[in-house]
Amino acid sequence: MRPRPYVRCPGCDLVGPAERLDYELGDTGDVDWAQQVTWQCAECGYLDTITADQVLAVDAAHTCVDCATQTPCPASAARVECERCGLIGLGPATADPEIAGQLRAIEALHDMELRVQQALRASRDPSGGPRPA
Ligand SMILES: [Zn+2]
Ligand SMILES: [Zn+2]
Repeated sequence: MRPRPYVRCPGCDLVGPAERLDYELGDTGDVDWAQQVTWQCAECGYLDTITADQVLAVDAAHTCVDCATQTPCPASAARVECERCGLIGLGPATADPEIAGQLRAIEALHDMELRVQQALRASRDPSGGPRPA
């Protein structure tokens, strides 16, 4: 599978899998850090470019609640994507109730934002729904 570097989000300060990760693969099969790497936080939607120095060391493992596969991840990860089935579960950092609470709050906020954006798009779409006279 393609490398999935974990970084700490500059927007919400959480560590988790990326919503969007665009990079070129280098000759070694790893991320080509000489090229621009675009990264978007799955938790809060923050979009940024990342560099190799931001990548966190993988010093822990996450066990998938669904398929029991162990996925290596940083100990500071609040969310981890299972490398086998793709299920996104709670990372080791959520053993800290403060981080678990922060994660819930940020995800709820982001969810609301997405819904508002969706509603705005729907209201701008001339074919959707009744139009004001
Ligand atoms: Zn974020
Ligand atoms: Zn799994």
